[in-house]
Amino acid sequence: MKTRLFDLGGRVAIVTGGNGGIGLGLARGLADAGANIAIVGRNETKSKAAVDDLAARGVKAASVVADVTDKEAVARMVERVTTEFGRIDILVNNAGINVRKPPHALAIEEWESVIDTNLTSAFLCSKAVYPAMKAAKGGKIINIGSMMSIFGASFTPAYAASKGGIVQFTRACACAWATDNIQANAILPGWIDTDLTERARAEVSGLNERVLARTPAARWGTIDDFAGIAVFLSSAASDFVTGAAIPVDGGFSVMG
Ligand code: NDP
Repeated sequence: MKTRLFDLGGRVAIVTGGNGGIGLGLARGLADAGANIAIVGRNETKSKAAVDDLAARGVKAASVVADVTDKEAVARMVERVTTEFGRIDILVNNAGINVRKPPHALAIEEWESVIDTNLTSAFLCSKAVYPAMKAAKGGKIINIGSMMSIFGASFTPAYAASKGGIVQFTRACACAWATDNIQANAILPGWIDTDLTERARAEVSGLNERVLARTPAARWGTIDDFAGIAVFLSSAASDFVTGAAIPVDGGFSVMG
């Protein structure tokens, strides 16, 4: 029987998009369980504030300014984390964007930017950390999907394609790397109060009411709702859980 099932002391996690929103909620959970954290984002000011927040929890925290759609930048980011932290145990592929338009109004450049940011980045980062995880004889990869991994919506063609893709990519990694003791799982957030949804809430009339009516928990999620799942999927507690897509949605996906 393993003791300290949820202990992440001494582990090192990379959280893309960890400087705000759900990524910061995930990073705080990992830090509170003892993990040292490297957050990855483009906005230096936001990243600095997040590093201070994480370091105040008693762990080592650093920010790497990088665009996760850039293959060379991702390689440099992984190299820097390895040098500064000495190991990589956990990768959270969380960085994401949305462009809300129906398929006939979406430009190819918009399609590519959403797919590159939400899906290709997960491939680039996962591939880049794999050698370190394989050499360390284990690792944890957590990809962030969405309700759009399951459902469709008229205004999210690229986003839904990227989030459906991330679940299938998760399953492929789970199968490919299981014998390396690397578990890959996806989290599917429901409607969560962050910068990403603040605009949607303002722009889409009736959205707030529809979310509240459709969510059995009758509230929007908060970034704190992601601490527990982050620790579970990053710790020994989930060593036989791989390829799963776990909703964190207050029941949104099971509402009849
Ligand atoms: P936010 O807009 O608050 O955060 C997005 C994060 O991604 C930011 O930290 C941003 O940092 C980072 N980011 C975006 N593009 C890049 C890039 N090219 N390179 C590096 N970092 C990047 O959104 P949320 O917290 O809401 O979303 C986080 C994840 O959760 C996304 O994958 C989103 O799709 C998913 N999600 C969110 C839901 C919600 O209701 N909020 C619901 C379902 C899924 P910076 O600006 O510094 O680059």
